[in-house]
Amino acid sequence: MSPPTEPVASLCPYCGVGCGLEAVPQGTTFKIRGDRQHPSSQGMVCVKGATILESMERDRLAYPLWRERLDQPFTVISWDEAITRLVQRLQWVRREQGADAICMYGSGQFQTEDYYVAQKLIKGCLGTNNFDANSRLCMSSAVSAYMGSFGADGPPCCYDDLEATDCAFLIGTNTAECHPIVFNRLRNHHKRHRHVKLIVVDPRRTPTAEVADLHLAIHPGTDIDLCHGIGHLLLKWGHFDAEFIEECTHGFADYVKLLEGYPPEWVADRCGIAQSDLEQAARYWGHAQAVLSLWSMGINQSAEGTAKARCLINLHLLTGQIGRPGSGPFSLTGQPNAMGGREAGGLSHLLPGYRHVTNPRHRQEVEDFWGLPRGQISDRPGRTAWQMVEGLERGEIGLFWIAATNPAVSFPHLERAKAAFLKSPFTVYQDAYFPTETAAYAHLILPAAQWSEKTGVMTNSERRVTLARAFRSPPGLARADWEIFAEVGRRLGYGRLFDFADAAAVYAEFAQLTAGRPCDHSGLSHERLARLGALQWPCPAGCSDDEARAPKRLYTDWRFATADGRAHFCVEHSHGVAEPTDAVYAFTLTTGRLYGHWHTQTRTGRIAKIQKMHPDPFLEIHPTDAANLHLNDGDWVEVRSRRGVICLPIMITRSIRPGTLFVPMHWGFLFAERAEANQLTHPTACPKSHQPELKACAVQVLPLRLR
Ligand code: SF4
Repeated sequence: MSPPTEPVASLCPYCGVGCGLEAVPQGTTFKIRGDRQHPSSQGMVCVKGATILESMERDRLAYPLWRERLDQPFTVISWDEAITRLVQRLQWVRREQGADAICMYGSGQFQTEDYYVAQKLIKGCLGTNNFDANSRLCMSSAVSAYMGSFGADGPPCCYDDLEATDCAFLIGTNTAECHPIVFNRLRNHHKRHRHVKLIVVDPRRTPTAEVADLHLAIHPGTDIDLCHGIGHLLLKWGHFDAEFIEECTHGFADYVKLLEGYPPEWVADRCGIAQSDLEQAARYWGHAQAVLSLWSMGINQSAEGTAKARCLINLHLLTGQIGRPGSGPFSLTGQPNAMGGREAGGLSHLLPGYRHVTNPRHRQEVEDFWGLPRGQISDRPGRTAWQMVEGLERGEIGLFWIAATNPAVSFPHLERAKAAFLKSPFTVYQDAYFPTETAAYAHLILPAAQWSEKTGVMTNSERRVTLARAFRSPPGLARADWEIFAEVGRRLGYGRLFDFADAAAVYAEFAQLTAGRPCDHSGLSHERLARLGALQWPCPAGCSDDEARAPKRLYTDWRFATADGRAHFCVEHSHGVAEPTDAVYAFTLTTGRLYGHWHTQTRTGRIAKIQKMHPDPFLEIHPTDAANLHLNDGDWVEVRSRRGVICLPIMITRSIRPGTLFVPMHWGFLFAERAEANQLTHPTACPKSHQPELKACAVQVLPLRLR
């Protein structure tokens, strides 16, 4: 493509904050800066967004690669040969093993166009719902919580609420490091207004907790108890909205009964916090005009993630804190387009437009729209991420297609996951980088275009859709993910369904399919997004430019998407963490992210500035625990769980509770030896969301003496 001469508006492809970027031409390269016109980020950008271009230059995959067996070297092949091999294998597996022996594992790094065409190929044409994405490990608990409480997915808030709240309740989110620009907006508001309170709930004293008015360092896994304890006090002190509860909710009587079992003394003891702190939290909630809750992986990545998120939402229903400026429950997504994935049907139980595979009317609507025969879309939810591993173990998968993600670092119980990958008879790996840890398990590698090289949209945590336009050519023969999926669809004989002129045509079709649905994109198009800038959904066809631009909250009329139009209280007790500590595995390990790094380092591991910030993995341990183990700062230890062992140096810090350890999850074997946090984690998952409990497992620590 010919290089642009004017700045090109784009979107940061890292996290769910979704900051606007501008690529400014400078000779033969570009300078990346924050886009001041972008409503979400207002010109701000963190180190990842600022250095993104550097990651586009190194270790890029440029040509399709093939090998018969994993012990052979790869050879470069043509696209024609690559697609032929893939299509022949798809046809063979479908004929010999059935469509459900085909699995695709995608990513919140996809643009919505990629997601949409993949759904059409896998769920529509191939007839299996075995499409899942790394969003399963990121925010599927938030999806099922919104569904359970409100009857539809979708965070109800917008980022303007960060500056309209007078009490922000941050639970299970290290926002300062993981969603830094959201945190900047909230922190600036907090600094400017003395009455605004910031409560942070986290077993670690993170940079987020450092600036809180109140830090509740609860025992890992006691979030539900804490929420019920706050609910108990709010009710007791009369801080509830009787009118909202009466007119707009369901299940209040049962909730009141449940809260009776959560007296503050018991809750404080259970959570490991002072009763006075619990009471202060309830006081801040009760006295605030507008309470905004933020949460992310600390709630979602749990064997009771759905219940955790719903019990937090309960507090908003109890106090009527929803649908008004500055209030509401607000999940922050990890991936840049996890939201777009939800909208396009990018989980194994979903279809485009917030439709469900188990709903006959939803299946028919999609089949009719795609021009497929009735009954073509399977009525069975497909395999979730971990169920794909189990299918590989049992020899049930004939083709495993991984795209834009690195599960050989990010999956729980990594040794077991990798052993399963080795059993795959045919693995396709579609990505932008080589090598990666997952590429080691691939037979066929397809080179994908990256951010800056392809045009498409992404939706951020506040439901804002941004057009990211291509301004450079991809390396070698790399192609946009949606183009690869469309080519496979055409070669399978579904040419009519994949006859897209460009990404704008793909998006136009997707947007039409969402008309009238909660995530209505039908008033959006590439052209309109280019003209007006990033816009939030719902944005129905026919809305004016002013209406399209206006900040949007959901449930402002207090009517919900449930069958009875009411929001539903969740009446559940906690079961605690899935793997409690015992005499042998006496510590609870929690995992998380660092400010500079992104997930498994496929990008940030290739950026010098970020490598310098966070060169090595480490284990955080409290001074009391270190003293008991006769350890000094920097000593190396072995950390063992029932599933695996890693070795790394310790960092002694009072920022973590005694009895709890922390290790960052960013390191796979390419960037550090034997330091993969997920060697230790387990795959026990929330029964509703199927999101694994990556945030807590029982481990032991052994000093590593040099022999
Ligand atoms: Fe990118 Fe997230 Fe940083 Fe914004 S906060 S620049 S979206 S990584």
